[in-house]
Amino acid sequence: MDTTAPEPRSVLVTGGNRGIGRAIAEAFIANGDQVAVTTRSGGAPDGALDVRCDITDPAQVDAAFAEIEAAHGPVEVLVANAGITADTLLLRMSDDDWSSVIDTNLTGSFRLAKRASKGMLRLKRGRIVFISSVVGLLGSAGQVNYAASKAGLVGMARSIARELGSRSITANVVAPGFIETDMTGVLTDDQKAAILAQVPLGRYGAVEEIAETVLWLTGPGAAYVTGAVIPVDGGLGMGH
Ligand code: NDP
Repeated sequence: MDTTAPEPRSVLVTGGNRGIGRAIAEAFIANGDQVAVTTRSGGAPDGALDVRCDITDPAQVDAAFAEIEAAHGPVEVLVANAGITADTLLLRMSDDDWSSVIDTNLTGSFRLAKRASKGMLRLKRGRIVFISSVVGLLGSAGQVNYAASKAGLVGMARSIARELGSRSITANVVAPGFIETDMTGVLTDDQKAAILAQVPLGRYGAVEEIAETVLWLTGPGAAYVTGAVIPVDGGLGMGH
């Protein structure tokens, strides 16, 4: 029996200074991996490399990867988690509301996956996880931009899964439901009550419940899972 501990992997979690991303980064650190966290404002959890990077700027993405590669080697696990909202109804949605959300959530994830795939192709292995949302498949009034960006991640992940599968690189999507973070903290009590009424499990999810799923998707138990959309939503999106 092989009793040697597995080699620590070079892991990048974007948006890992708070909320879901922080919990994901902490789970990888506890797993013994070498973790880098990228954000605009800094503040990575203890044990992670704190890298500044605005994912809307291709040059910053490239520089962040160079910094991470120098410290930890090529990124073997990419968790594209950073995301924003700019909610308003369609008729009031400006081009800026649309393009800032698409550029961060969808195009930012494309930039990251493209840059990460270079190292993964050389390694001949890799795991890419995109953090989407239940809203990407269910739709959401007031979130035309956000839902479109999150639905786009599904087509992107499935295309990457087809392009890179022969090199043992998987690409999957995790679709959280309503999770207690700063992003959902801005909802009114009425909005929260309306949402919870639609959730079969009758509660918000915890950030750790997303982190556990992401860790599993990047581990040996999920080596044959690619192009999948894994809902972690208390049953909110069932059937989609
Ligand atoms: P938060 O708002 O708490 O955190 C967002 C993170 O993204 C921060 O770390 C922020 O860091 C980073 N970020 C935002 N814009 C950029 C940018 N341009 N470049 C680099 N980093 C950026 O969000 P959550 O933890 O709630 O959500 C995390 C992910 O999960 C998002 O993709 C979100 O859409 C998704 N999600 C969340 C749900 C929820 O209920 N909370 C439900 C479904 C999906 P900084 O500001 O320092 O750059």
